[in-house]
Amino acid sequence: MAIPLLQMYKVARYIAGRKLRGDKRYPLVLMLEPLFQCNLACSGCGKIDYPKEILQKRVSVEDAMRAVDECGAPIVSIPGGEPLIHKEMPQIVAGIVARKKFIYLCTNAILLERFVKQVPPSPYLSFNLHLDGMRETNDRVTDRVGHFDIVVKMIKMLKEKGYRVQTNILYADVDVFHRTFSGVPFQQFVTTSTTTENLVFTYGVKSTGLDYVARVEPIENLSFSITGNWQDSTYTNIIAPGGAGADGNVLQRQPRFQTRFTPAYDIPMSWGDLRAFLTYSYIGLRYSDPGNAQVLPSYQTLDAGIVADIGKHFEVRLQGTNLTNELGITELDARAASGTSGAAGGFALGRPIFGREENLGVKYKF
Ligand code: SF4
Repeated sequence: MAIPLLQMYKVARYIAGRKLRGDKRYPLVLMLEPLFQCNLACSGCGKIDYPKEILQKRVSVEDAMRAVDECGAPIVSIPGGEPLIHKEMPQIVAGIVARKKFIYLCTNAILLERFVKQVPPSPYLSFNLHLDGMRETNDRVTDRVGHFDIVVKMIKMLKEKGYRVQTNILYADVDVFHRTFSGVPFQQFVTTSTTTENLVFTYGVKSTGLDYVARVEPIENLSFSITGNWQDSTYTNIIAPGGAGADGNVLQRQPRFQTRFTPAYDIPMSWGDLRAFLTYSYIGLRYSDPGNAQVLPSYQTLDAGIVADIGKHFEVRLQGTNLTNELGITELDARAASGTSGAAGGFALGRPIFGREENLGVKYKF
Protein backbone atom coordinates (compact mmCIF):
# COMPACT_ATOMS: atom_id res chain seq x y z
CA MET A 1 0.00 0.00 0.00
CA ALA A 2 1.56 3.28 -1.09
CA ILE A 3 1.72 6.25 1.28
CA PRO A 4 -1.03 8.73 0.24
CA LEU A 5 -0.11 12.23 -0.90
CA LEU A 6 -1.98 13.79 2.04
CA GLN A 7 0.21 11.86 4.50
CA MET A 8 3.43 12.68 2.61
CA TYR A 9 2.50 16.36 2.52
CA LYS A 10 1.56 16.58 6.21
CA VAL A 11 4.62 14.68 7.43
CA ALA A 12 6.93 16.76 5.18
CA ARG A 13 5.28 19.95 6.47
CA TYR A 14 5.76 18.79 10.08
CA ILE A 15 9.47 18.00 9.49
CA ALA A 16 10.07 21.32 7.69
CA GLY A 17 8.34 23.19 10.54
CA ARG A 18 10.48 21.50 13.21
CA LYS A 19 13.67 22.17 11.22
CA LEU A 20 12.73 25.84 10.76
CA ARG A 21 12.26 26.08 14.51
CA GLY A 22 15.82 24.81 14.86
CA ASP A 23 14.79 21.53 16.54
CA LYS A 24 17.60 19.01 16.18
CA ARG A 25 15.56 16.09 17.51
CA TYR A 26 11.81 15.63 17.29
CA PRO A 27 9.38 12.68 17.37
CA LEU A 28 8.02 11.36 14.10
CA VAL A 29 6.06 8.33 15.29
CA LEU A 30 4.37 7.81 18.66
CA MET A 31 4.23 4.13 19.64
CA LEU A 32 1.09 3.88 21.74
CA GLU A 33 0.68 0.50 23.42
CA PRO A 34 -2.71 0.59 25.12
CA LEU A 35 -2.46 -2.98 26.53
CA PHE A 36 -0.30 -6.11 26.50
CA GLN A 37 -3.13 -8.65 26.53
CA CYS A 38 -3.81 -10.68 23.38
CA ASN A 39 -6.24 -13.30 22.11
CA LEU A 40 -3.44 -15.23 20.37
CA ALA A 41 -0.33 -16.90 21.77
CA CYS A 42 2.26 -16.64 18.98
CA SER A 43 5.51 -18.48 19.50
CA GLY A 44 8.24 -16.09 20.60
CA CYS A 45 5.88 -13.27 21.66
CA GLY A 46 7.24 -11.58 24.78
CA LYS A 47 4.14 -9.48 25.51
CA ILE A 48 1.81 -12.25 26.58
CA ASP A 49 4.28 -13.65 29.11
CA TYR A 50 3.72 -10.72 31.51
CA PRO A 51 1.97 -11.42 34.85
CA LYS A 52 -1.83 -11.23 34.99
CA GLU A 53 -1.94 -7.83 36.75
CA ILE A 54 0.11 -6.28 33.88
CA LEU A 55 -1.99 -7.99 31.19
CA GLN A 56 -5.16 -6.59 32.75
CA LYS A 57 -3.94 -2.99 32.61
CA ARG A 58 -5.42 -0.58 30.04
CA VAL A 59 -4.38 2.91 28.94
CA SER A 60 -7.44 5.16 29.34
CA VAL A 61 -8.81 7.36 26.54
CA GLU A 62 -7.71 10.47 28.48
CA ASP A 63 -4.14 9.18 28.97
CA ALA A 64 -3.92 8.15 25.31
CA MET A 65 -5.03 11.63 24.15
CA ARG A 66 -2.62 13.30 26.57
CA ALA A 67 0.25 11.19 25.15
CA VAL A 68 -0.73 12.08 21.56
CA ASP A 69 -0.93 15.83 22.37
CA GLU A 70 2.25 15.87 24.44
CA CYS A 71 4.28 13.97 21.83
CA GLY A 72 3.01 15.96 18.85
CA ALA A 73 4.23 13.34 16.32
CA PRO A 74 2.20 13.25 13.07
CA ILE A 75 2.03 9.41 13.06
CA VAL A 76 0.67 7.17 15.83
CA SER A 77 1.38 3.45 15.69
CA ILE A 78 -0.89 1.31 17.90
CA PRO A 79 0.49 -2.18 18.51
CA GLY A 80 -0.28 -4.43 21.48
CA GLY A 81 -1.08 -7.06 22.70
CA GLU A 82 -4.15 -7.00 20.58
CA PRO A 83 -5.46 -3.38 20.54
CA LEU A 84 -9.00 -4.40 19.57
CA ILE A 85 -9.49 -6.18 22.92
CA HIS A 86 -9.42 -2.70 24.51
CA LYS A 87 -13.07 -1.73 24.97
CA GLU A 88 -12.36 1.97 24.44
CA MET A 89 -10.30 1.52 21.27
CA PRO A 90 -13.03 3.08 19.04
CA GLN A 91 -12.90 6.24 21.19
CA ILE A 92 -9.09 6.30 21.17
CA VAL A 93 -9.01 5.96 17.36
CA ALA A 94 -11.75 8.60 16.95
CA GLY A 95 -9.80 11.02 19.19
CA ILE A 96 -6.58 10.56 17.20
CA VAL A 97 -8.38 10.92 13.85
CA ALA A 98 -10.02 14.13 15.15
CA ARG A 99 -6.50 15.44 15.85
CA LYS A 100 -5.60 14.66 12.20
CA LYS A 101 -2.78 12.26 13.11
CA PHE A 102 -2.08 9.22 10.91
CA ILE A 103 -2.81 5.93 12.72
CA TYR A 104 -1.28 2.53 11.99
CA LEU A 105 -3.48 0.14 13.94
CA CYS A 106 -1.72 -3.24 14.20
CA THR A 107 -4.14 -6.10 14.73
CA ASN A 108 -4.37 -9.87 14.32
CA ALA A 109 -7.82 -9.24 12.74
CA ILE A 110 -9.80 -11.64 14.96
CA LEU A 111 -12.04 -8.87 16.38
CA LEU A 112 -11.96 -6.64 13.32
CA GLU A 113 -15.50 -7.27 12.06
CA ARG A 114 -16.97 -5.96 15.33
CA PHE A 115 -14.56 -3.01 15.46
CA VAL A 116 -15.30 -1.59 11.99
CA LYS A 117 -18.98 -1.33 12.89
CA GLN A 118 -17.95 1.39 15.34
CA VAL A 119 -15.22 3.22 13.38
CA PRO A 120 -15.81 4.61 9.86
CA PRO A 121 -13.05 4.69 7.17
CA SER A 122 -10.76 7.70 7.27
CA PRO A 123 -7.68 8.82 5.30
CA TYR A 124 -6.02 9.05 8.75
CA LEU A 125 -6.63 5.38 9.62
CA SER A 126 -4.67 2.36 8.28
CA PHE A 127 -4.93 -1.21 9.49
CA ASN A 128 -1.74 -3.24 9.65
CA LEU A 129 -2.78 -6.89 9.67
CA HIS A 130 -0.57 -9.46 11.35
CA LEU A 131 0.57 -12.22 8.98
CA ASP A 132 3.68 -14.32 9.57
CA GLY A 133 3.78 -15.96 6.15
CA MET A 134 1.50 -18.08 4.01
CA ARG A 135 -1.26 -20.29 5.52
CA GLU A 136 0.82 -23.10 7.01
CA THR A 137 3.63 -20.91 8.35
CA ASN A 138 1.31 -18.26 9.73
CA ASP A 139 -1.03 -20.70 11.47
CA ARG A 140 1.92 -22.52 13.00
CA VAL A 141 3.55 -19.32 14.29
CA THR A 142 0.29 -17.90 15.64
CA ASP A 143 -0.69 -21.33 16.97
CA ARG A 144 -4.24 -20.90 15.61
CA VAL A 145 -5.52 -23.07 12.77
CA GLY A 146 -7.59 -20.87 10.44
CA HIS A 147 -5.97 -17.56 11.44
CA PHE A 148 -4.54 -17.03 7.93
CA ASP A 149 -8.04 -17.44 6.42
CA ILE A 150 -9.49 -14.93 8.91
CA VAL A 151 -6.85 -12.35 7.94
CA VAL A 152 -7.45 -12.85 4.20
CA LYS A 153 -11.22 -12.52 4.73
CA MET A 154 -10.72 -9.33 6.76
CA ILE A 155 -8.42 -7.80 4.11
CA LYS A 156 -11.19 -8.31 1.52
CA MET A 157 -13.81 -6.89 3.90
CA LEU A 158 -11.68 -3.80 4.71
CA LYS A 159 -11.00 -3.08 1.05
CA GLU A 160 -14.67 -3.47 0.11
CA LYS A 161 -15.67 -1.03 2.86
CA GLY A 162 -13.01 1.52 1.81
CA TYR A 163 -10.50 1.18 4.67
CA ARG A 164 -6.76 1.40 4.13
CA VAL A 165 -4.99 -1.90 4.86
CA GLN A 166 -1.53 -3.41 4.67
CA THR A 167 0.21 -6.64 5.73
CA ASN A 168 3.79 -7.64 6.30
CA ILE A 169 4.02 -10.27 3.49
CA LEU A 170 5.65 -7.74 1.18
CA TYR A 171 7.85 -5.25 2.94
CA ALA A 172 9.81 -2.53 1.16
CA ASP A 173 11.54 0.55 2.46
CA VAL A 174 13.55 2.97 0.31
CA ASP A 175 15.28 5.90 1.94
CA VAL A 176 16.60 8.62 -0.40
CA PHE A 177 19.10 10.94 1.25
CA HIS A 178 21.24 13.99 0.69
CA ARG A 179 23.67 14.81 3.51
CA THR A 180 26.41 17.36 3.91
CA PHE A 181 29.10 17.44 6.58
CA SER A 182 31.80 20.00 7.26
CA GLY A 183 34.85 20.30 9.50
CA VAL A 184 35.42 16.54 9.86
CA PRO A 185 38.89 16.01 11.40
CA PHE A 186 41.43 13.76 9.60
CA GLN A 187 44.87 12.57 10.67
CA GLN A 188 47.30 10.26 8.89
CA PHE A 189 51.03 9.57 9.22
CA VAL A 190 52.74 9.50 5.80
CA THR A 191 56.31 8.30 5.47
CA THR A 192 58.58 9.89 2.86
CA SER A 193 62.12 8.72 2.02
CA THR A 194 63.57 10.90 4.79
CA THR A 195 60.83 11.81 7.30
CA THR A 196 57.47 10.84 8.68
CA GLU A 197 54.83 13.50 8.16
CA ASN A 198 51.82 13.91 10.42
CA LEU A 199 49.01 15.03 8.10
CA VAL A 200 46.23 16.77 10.01
CA PHE A 201 43.38 18.50 8.21
CA THR A 202 39.62 18.88 8.05
CA TYR A 203 37.26 18.09 5.23
CA GLY A 204 33.61 18.23 4.24
CA VAL A 205 31.42 15.62 2.52
CA LYS A 206 28.53 15.86 0.08
CA SER A 207 26.57 12.61 -0.07
CA THR A 208 23.51 11.71 -2.16
CA GLY A 209 22.05 8.24 -2.44
CA LEU A 210 19.47 5.72 -1.41
CA ASP A 211 19.22 2.82 1.05
CA TYR A 212 16.77 0.02 0.31
CA VAL A 213 15.34 -2.98 2.14
CA ALA A 214 12.71 -5.32 0.71
CA ARG A 215 11.31 -8.74 1.55
CA VAL A 216 8.70 -10.78 -0.26
CA GLU A 217 7.26 -14.24 0.42
CA PRO A 218 5.72 -15.26 -2.94
CA ILE A 219 4.81 -18.81 -1.95
CA GLU A 220 4.47 -20.79 1.24
CA ASN A 221 7.79 -20.92 3.16
CA LEU A 222 9.93 -19.25 0.47
CA SER A 223 11.19 -15.70 0.99
CA PHE A 224 13.52 -13.32 -0.85
CA SER A 225 15.18 -10.41 0.93
CA ILE A 226 17.36 -7.69 -0.52
CA THR A 227 19.18 -4.81 1.17
CA GLY A 228 21.63 -2.37 -0.26
CA ASN A 229 22.81 1.10 -0.82
CA TRP A 230 23.85 3.32 -3.71
CA GLN A 231 25.60 6.58 -2.96
CA ASP A 232 27.62 9.33 -4.56
CA SER A 233 29.77 10.63 -1.67
CA THR A 234 32.56 13.07 -2.44
CA TYR A 235 34.96 15.29 -0.51
CA THR A 236 34.43 19.05 -0.27
CA ASN A 237 36.53 21.82 1.28
CA ILE A 238 39.62 19.85 2.20
CA ILE A 239 41.72 22.36 4.14
CA ALA A 240 45.32 21.13 4.13
CA PRO A 241 48.37 21.06 1.95
CA GLY A 242 48.31 17.24 1.91
CA GLY A 243 44.66 17.17 0.93
CA ALA A 244 44.90 19.72 -1.85
CA GLY A 245 43.24 18.54 -5.02
CA ALA A 246 41.05 15.94 -3.34
CA ASP A 247 37.83 17.98 -3.56
CA GLY A 248 35.35 16.03 -5.68
CA ASN A 249 37.15 12.72 -5.05
CA VAL A 250 35.15 9.70 -3.86
CA LEU A 251 35.00 9.28 -0.09
CA GLN A 252 37.64 6.90 1.24
CA ARG A 253 36.50 3.24 1.51
CA GLN A 254 32.86 3.95 0.54
CA PRO A 255 31.58 1.85 -2.38
CA ARG A 256 29.17 3.56 -4.74
CA PHE A 257 27.06 0.41 -4.71
CA GLN A 258 26.70 -2.55 -2.38
CA THR A 259 23.90 -5.08 -2.05
CA ARG A 260 22.94 -8.34 -0.34
CA PHE A 261 20.36 -10.83 -1.64
CA THR A 262 19.04 -13.69 0.52
CA PRO A 263 16.66 -16.41 -0.65
CA ALA A 264 15.50 -18.56 2.28
CA TYR A 265 13.29 -21.60 2.68
CA ASP A 266 11.55 -22.66 5.90
CA ILE A 267 10.72 -26.31 6.42
CA PRO A 268 8.26 -26.97 9.24
CA MET A 269 9.20 -30.09 11.23
CA SER A 270 7.39 -31.94 14.00
CA TRP A 271 10.06 -30.75 16.49
CA GLY A 272 10.34 -27.12 15.31
CA ASP A 273 11.60 -25.34 12.19
CA LEU A 274 14.40 -25.85 9.73
CA ARG A 275 15.52 -22.85 7.71
CA ALA A 276 17.98 -22.94 4.80
CA PHE A 277 19.40 -19.73 3.41
CA LEU A 278 21.94 -18.40 0.94
CA THR A 279 23.31 -14.84 0.92
CA TYR A 280 25.00 -13.28 -2.07
CA SER A 281 26.84 -10.01 -1.32
CA TYR A 282 28.35 -7.54 -3.76
CA ILE A 283 30.64 -4.74 -2.58
CA GLY A 284 31.58 -2.27 -5.32
CA LEU A 285 34.91 -0.65 -6.13
CA ARG A 286 36.29 1.71 -3.46
CA TYR A 287 39.39 3.81 -2.87
CA SER A 288 41.61 3.39 0.16
CA ASP A 289 42.79 7.01 0.29
CA PRO A 290 41.31 10.51 -0.10
CA GLY A 291 43.48 11.03 -3.20
CA ASN A 292 41.76 8.02 -4.88
CA ALA A 293 45.16 6.65 -5.91
CA GLN A 294 44.71 3.26 -4.22
CA VAL A 295 41.93 1.20 -5.79
CA LEU A 296 40.14 -1.43 -3.71
CA PRO A 297 38.53 -3.71 -6.33
CA SER A 298 34.92 -4.87 -6.06
CA TYR A 299 34.29 -8.33 -4.63
CA GLN A 300 31.43 -10.80 -4.15
CA THR A 301 30.83 -13.34 -1.41
CA LEU A 302 28.51 -16.26 -0.87
CA ASP A 303 27.32 -17.39 2.57
CA ALA A 304 24.93 -20.27 3.27
CA GLY A 305 23.54 -22.08 6.25
CA ILE A 306 20.92 -24.24 7.87
CA VAL A 307 19.30 -23.20 11.14
CA ALA A 308 17.21 -25.58 13.24
CA ASP A 309 14.90 -24.13 15.91
CA ILE A 310 14.22 -27.06 18.20
CA GLY A 311 11.33 -26.55 20.56
CA LYS A 312 11.10 -23.14 22.21
CA HIS A 313 14.68 -22.79 23.43
CA PHE A 314 17.32 -24.50 21.27
CA GLU A 315 18.89 -23.26 18.06
CA VAL A 316 21.44 -25.31 16.10
CA ARG A 317 23.20 -23.46 13.29
CA LEU A 318 25.53 -24.79 10.60
CA GLN A 319 26.83 -21.84 8.61
CA GLY A 320 29.53 -21.19 6.05
CA THR A 321 30.79 -17.70 5.22
CA ASN A 322 32.75 -16.60 2.15
CA LEU A 323 32.29 -20.07 0.66
CA THR A 324 34.11 -19.19 -2.57
CA ASN A 325 37.10 -17.94 -0.55
CA GLU A 326 36.98 -14.58 -2.34
CA LEU A 327 39.89 -12.20 -1.75
CA GLY A 328 38.21 -8.91 -0.84
CA ILE A 329 40.44 -6.04 0.28
CA THR A 330 38.95 -3.53 2.72
CA GLU A 331 41.99 -1.26 3.19
CA LEU A 332 45.43 -0.75 1.62
CA ASP A 333 48.68 0.36 3.16
CA ALA A 334 48.41 4.06 3.99
CA ARG A 335 52.15 4.51 3.26
CA ALA A 336 51.93 3.04 -0.24
CA ALA A 337 50.93 6.39 -1.74
CA SER A 338 54.30 7.84 -0.72
CA GLY A 339 56.17 4.95 -2.30
CA THR A 340 57.69 3.87 1.01
CA SER A 341 55.88 0.61 1.62
CA GLY A 342 56.11 -2.73 -0.09
CA ALA A 343 54.03 -1.38 -2.98
CA ALA A 344 57.21 0.05 -4.48
CA GLY A 345 58.69 -3.44 -4.68
CA GLY A 346 55.81 -4.91 -6.65
CA PHE A 347 53.57 -5.90 -3.75
CA ALA A 348 51.26 -4.03 -1.39
CA LEU A 349 50.09 -4.51 2.15
CA GLY A 350 46.33 -4.77 2.55
CA ARG A 351 43.62 -5.83 4.96
CA PRO A 352 41.49 -8.66 3.51
CA ILE A 353 38.08 -9.98 4.52
CA PHE A 354 38.07 -13.34 6.32
CA GLY A 355 38.55 -16.39 4.10
CA ARG A 356 36.19 -19.35 3.90
CA GLU A 357 34.86 -20.34 7.30
CA GLU A 358 32.45 -23.02 8.54
CA ASN A 359 30.76 -22.80 11.94
CA LEU A 360 28.57 -25.14 13.92
CA GLY A 361 26.84 -23.53 16.89
CA VAL A 362 24.28 -24.48 19.52
CA LYS A 363 22.35 -21.74 21.31
CA TYR A 364 19.97 -21.90 24.27
CA LYS A 365 17.42 -19.07 24.29
CA PHE A 366 16.15 -18.05 27.73
S1 SF4 B 1 -0.76 -11.29 17.85
FE1 SF4 B 1 1.00 -10.03 18.42
S2 SF4 B 1 0.71 -9.60 20.60
FE2 SF4 B 1 -0.67 -11.28 20.07
S3 SF4 B 1 0.48 -13.10 20.63
FE3 SF4 B 1 0.83 -12.72 18.47
S4 SF4 B 1 2.71 -11.49 18.41
FE4 SF4 B 1 1.94 -11.43 20.51
